[in-house]
Parts: sequence; C-alpha cells; structure tokens
Amino acid sequence: MNLNVTWAEAWIREGARVIAEHRAELNTLDRAIGDGDHGENMDRGFQAVVLKLDALPAGSTPGDVLKLVATTLISTVGGASGPLFGTAFLKAAVAVGTVGDLDAAAVAALIAAARDGIVLRGKAVVGDKTMIDAWTPAVDAAAAARNADASVVTLLQQAADAAAAGAVSTEPLVAHKGRASYLGERAIGHRDPGAESTTLLLRAAAETAAR
Ligand code: ADP
Ligand code: MG
Ligand code: MG
Repeated sequence: MNLNVTWAEAWIREGARVIAEHRAELNTLDRAIGDGDHGENMDRGFQAVVLKLDALPAGSTPGDVLKLVATTLISTVGGASGPLFGTAFLKAAVAVGTVGDLDAAAVAALIAAARDGIVLRGKAVVGDKTMIDAWTPAVDAAAAARNADASVVTLLQQAADAAAAGAVSTEPLVAHKGRASYLGERAIGHRDPGAESTTLLLRAAAETAAR
C-alpha cells in the first residue's frame, strides 16, 4: 500500500486536531523551560493550515499539501517553531516531489528531509534538548523499517514510537539551543515542548496511514 494526497490531507487535519487537543499541555511544557507559548503557536499555525486545506485544489499531490503547510506555518507562527517546522515541511515537500503515491522509501525520505531542514535552520544536534531529539530517532527508525521492507504503516508507527521515546529522553538534559538554553541546569527534569509536538505530528501521520 502507498500513501496518497488523501492521506496527506488527513494527516495534517488530524495533526491540527491533536495539537489543539494538547495546546494547554504544550504551553505548560513551554512555561517550565521557555515562554509558555508553544501550544498557542502551533495551534494558531495549524488552524490556519486547516482553513487553507478546505480550499485545496483538485488534483493536488502530497507535496502540494506539505508545501501549503510550510508556507502557512512560516507566515502565521511566530517564535522559533514557525520557521523550524515551516522549513521541515518545505524540505519534505521538495523530497517527495510531484508524485501522487508515496511508498515506504518516499515516506522515509520525507521524514529525513524534514529533520534535515530543521537542522539546516536551527543547527541543533541530538542531545541539545530540542525537537531534533524526537526527529532524529524517528528518521533512524524509518530508515531501519525501510531496510526491513516494512509497510508504510509500520514505518510510520515505528517512527512515531521512536519520536515519543526521544521526547522522553529530553527530560534529564540541559538545553543547548533555544530559550531553554538560558536556564542552564534548571531545565533538567522538563520535557522539551517541540519534541512533544513533533511526536504528536508523527503519531497523527501513523494513525491516519492505518485508517
Ligand atoms: P519560542 O521559543 O520562540 O517561544 P516555541 O515555544 O514555539 O518558540 O518553540 C520552542 C521549541 O522550538 C523548543 O521546544 C525546541 O524544540 C524548538 N527549538 C528552539 N530552538 C531550536 C533549534 N535551534 N533547533 C531545533 N529546535 C529548536
Ligand atoms: Mg515558546
Ligand atoms: Mg515565544
């Protein structure tokens, strides 16, 4: 089974729904080690995306959906996460190109390109206590699933599981990027909000693929 534009649209709508559902929780995580607006930022951006999806032209591809997400997040989300997630979706769009159906290799490439876009923009490495701590394990899990000839659904589930574990792994860390880096050791014991929202988005990708 491959994933098409119907999946891409369902993924982003479900992502918007879970971001809205977890808005307060993401704000709370960001209040502990940042400025308390991560849920608000992500929810504002994804609600704007949903409005634009309502007007998605017929014949659009998965890449068109990803590009729409990118441009909307860049223009509507203030803060660090707007340009970071915006660049992620932009690079993901370029990676999938204009094809209508994404196989496991294409989905693995999508996730890797998204991560690479965030690194290009924010220069974080694993262990810096950022969203990269969720994205990079997801990229690795997707590549491993791809090499094991897993289905796209299994690949996405394993990527989401790896992201979730990666988000938890940020808790004992001191931050080296973003606002949390100003806190030094006071950031220890708190989960990175961007790693958590990354997990929500990848979980939404897996759940909608399994429908
Ligand atoms: P702001 O910090 O501007 O208020 P948000 O609260 O929306 O923006 O986003 C904060 C999240 O952005 C952090 O939890 C972290 O995951 C992510 N982040 C910040 N700086 C970087 C960076 N340089 N690279 C990767 N992710 C980063
Ligand atoms: Mg913030
Ligand atoms: Mg802010």
